[in-house]
Amino acid sequence: MKYISTRGQSPALGFSEILLGGLAPDGGLYLPESYPQFNEADLTAMRGMDYAHLAFAILSRLVDDIPHEDLKIIIDKTYRPDVYAYIRPGQNAADITPTVKLEDNLYLLSLSNGPTLAFKDMAMQLLGNLFEYVLEKTGKTTNILGATSGDTGSAAEYAMRGKKGIRVFMLSPNKKMSRFQTAQMFSLQDENIFNIAVNGVFDDCQDMVKAVSNDAAFKEKYKIGAVNSINWGRIIAQVVYYFKGYFAVTENNAQKVSFAVPSGNFGNVCAGHIARMMGLPIDKLVVATNENDVLDEFFKTGAYRPRGSVNTYHTSSPSMDISKASNFERFVFDLVGRDSAKVRELWASVDSGGAFDIKQLLPKLADYGFVSGSSNHANRMQTIREADANYGVVIDTHTADGLKVALEYREVNVPMVVLETALPVKFEDSIIEALGKAPERPAALYGIEDLLQKHTEMNVDVAAIKQFIVDNT
Ligand SMILES: *Cc1c(COP(=O)(O)O)cnc(C)c1O
Repeated sequence: MKYISTRGQSPALGFSEILLGGLAPDGGLYLPESYPQFNEADLTAMRGMDYAHLAFAILSRLVDDIPHEDLKIIIDKTYRPDVYAYIRPGQNAADITPTVKLEDNLYLLSLSNGPTLAFKDMAMQLLGNLFEYVLEKTGKTTNILGATSGDTGSAAEYAMRGKKGIRVFMLSPNKKMSRFQTAQMFSLQDENIFNIAVNGVFDDCQDMVKAVSNDAAFKEKYKIGAVNSINWGRIIAQVVYYFKGYFAVTENNAQKVSFAVPSGNFGNVCAGHIARMMGLPIDKLVVATNENDVLDEFFKTGAYRPRGSVNTYHTSSPSMDISKASNFERFVFDLVGRDSAKVRELWASVDSGGAFDIKQLLPKLADYGFVSGSSNHANRMQTIREADANYGVVIDTHTADGLKVALEYREVNVPMVVLETALPVKFEDSIIEALGKAPERPAALYGIEDLLQKHTEMNVDVAAIKQFIVDNT
């Protein structure tokens, strides 16, 4: 299995070769040359598998340059019930991603039971173990440099803490994350984790990361790596739970299921698209955005108009406050019939701050099952209240965006599965605003805000972060 770039001007590479990097050298994103196919007999065999076996059945078709007995060990180590322990009462931890039935043909898929209470753990935990394995095999090390507004940074740190050959330098905007998110990250005392609180906003952090990565000599010398949402290893880990969710709510493979996905960078729902391309009987993929509705606009009109960071709203589903969906190019590559010249033409415009319009392809979107919708703060509050009142289930603000749009696309006899992308305790203030009460907190996280914290403050200064990396490697 080789991986090619959506822009068609980079050499095809194996999985291990693209694992540690980000963009392809030509600026594109990696995708498999062709999608492995799961037929009816495969699906029947997979239906009875537990999570780790299912993950192996899927990932072993996408990874052929890690011996499969090693891949099996990595997967078994990653998808263990004790790692995804923050389940709801009555759920079975052995399911790893259990479902919650809200009403007939309406379900939540619990993806946020891992160490940092967001779905990003599902992929990041695998990445931590894959990175460690590949680095050890090649005798290399890496310094992961990233920027976070909360969820990505904590998921990366909990996945990489204590791992051999890996250091994490994570920039976050000083005093702008929630108290809970800050405590989650800054209370880590591991020697390979460096939290840097930047006196600026998230975009300043991201600009600092970009500036360091653009210095090719520094990047090479200090082995700067990334774990951002375009990482192919993260996408394939996410494909697995679409299969798991499908089997959980169906009895046979003739049935179809729709998934509603709270979206920002289009990573999570891109994995749904790939699951569908591999043969999973998905009916609709419902893309749910917040007020930052670039993707909703695209799926309704065919016009993709990314907005600059100054035009990105700060909302109460902050992990979706993104106006340029970094994984979207992967889907468009398939949509235009894998014509890389066409992708280059479209992104020549995007990369220079522009937009594109492919409304002539709108009818084709239906072939891929995509529909979309968006929500605002009032919708979110109301959806949280209704889920609590009607189903007795407290959901977080991002999941509320998903449920709100899911309800607009329900059909008789087609189960609708809403992906739960975070637990409500991560966004406590919004839950109190909606319900007048705090969400339940897992016992292991009581008092996390009182733990000893460790971090370094820094001004928006590229030289300072470079010096910090030099001093700590
Ligand atoms: C990252 C994140 C999202 C958005 O996921 P994408 O893959 O970027 O579309 C949604 N909800 C939560 C809670 C997140 O942390």
